[in-house]
Amino acid sequence: CLDPNGATVQQISVCVRKRPMSRKEENSKNLDIITVPSADSLIVHELRLKVDLTKFLEHHKFRFDYTFDEECSNALVYNHTARPLIKTMFEGGNATCFAYGQTGSGKTHTMGGEFFGKVQDCGTGIYAMAARDVFEEVSRPEYQKMGAKITCSFFEIYGTKVFDLLLPNKPMLRVLEDARQQVVVVGLTEMPVTKVEDVLRLIEHGSKERTSGQTSANAKSSRSHAVFQIALHMPDSWGPYGKCSFVDLAGNERGADTQSADRQTRIEGADINKSLLALKECIRALSRQSSHLPFRGSKLTQVLRDSFVGGKKNKTCMIAMISPSMSCVENTLNTLRYADRVKEL
Ligand code: ADP
Ligand code: MG
Repeated sequence: CLDPNGATVQQISVCVRKRPMSRKEENSKNLDIITVPSADSLIVHELRLKVDLTKFLEHHKFRFDYTFDEECSNALVYNHTARPLIKTMFEGGNATCFAYGQTGSGKTHTMGGEFFGKVQDCGTGIYAMAARDVFEEVSRPEYQKMGAKITCSFFEIYGTKVFDLLLPNKPMLRVLEDARQQVVVVGLTEMPVTKVEDVLRLIEHGSKERTSGQTSANAKSSRSHAVFQIALHMPDSWGPYGKCSFVDLAGNERGADTQSADRQTRIEGADINKSLLALKECIRALSRQSSHLPFRGSKLTQVLRDSFVGGKKNKTCMIAMISPSMSCVENTLNTLRYADRVKEL
């Protein structure tokens, strides 16, 4: 059963995941300011100063489709977010799952693009759990009889450039749009896969390519979007029959970039802001069934155009990641407000 609740799956769902305090945050006596009182609500307790400098707590309450506290495992998060979307691909639609949040909030950890040196390490994230469910479904006799095949792609969007993470030294790819507004990433690797181990190996390779040559916490990978796709192909259809896309978005903390002395940093920050705004508008257009889709607003939304068209067939889930600590409160509130507006009509 691909739908854990047996309930009808919402077209757009927005969830929030709070990560645990890190050792560093605990050692520096940082406070945990997030409580998750129920499975669909969350409160931020913000410490504020009055004009007379007395302190008071402001409580910001939010409601989402699901809220996950620091005890929740990747498997539980997967079951309530991406898992119900898998069958969309078998119905000929496009399912898309976004990990949104500031750098260090747990996006890559949730998606499963963290690599610690063992192939199995990739197996506990959403990419791998989704692959497991896809193979289970496609192994059914009706799909086998039809000759259904699965492929994977993994690419990175950095500024306005697209890089193939499944090829050595991640070559740059061109993005073209034809007269019917179909968007093609020219030459993107579509690697045939037949079992979960194949997928784990691709994730391992792609994750290494993504982070290679990086040193600091503010490394380039936090400034790029990573897109992992699993596609279902039927023998005589042009292009994939259905697709699942998993997007590890660039960190959304860009306030400081506008002041940066480095021109490249300012441009990159502006590009990221633009793409996250365009993403919000495209998801809202999907939910309104709007005929006007502002997908040309950024490279990210352009390459994901298929995710936002096609009406009711397509499903989207956003997982907003937040840090528990007081030092991150500003970014946390920004993240929650963005997530809130994605669904508000
Ligand atoms: P991001 O991709 O958003 O920048 P990461 O996924 O790299 O953030 O997470 C930052 C750090 O926090 C990593 O060391 C990661 O292992 C850890 N972390 C994130 N989420 C969790 C979680 N739910 N449980 C345990 N550790 C986590
Ligand atoms: Mg990351």
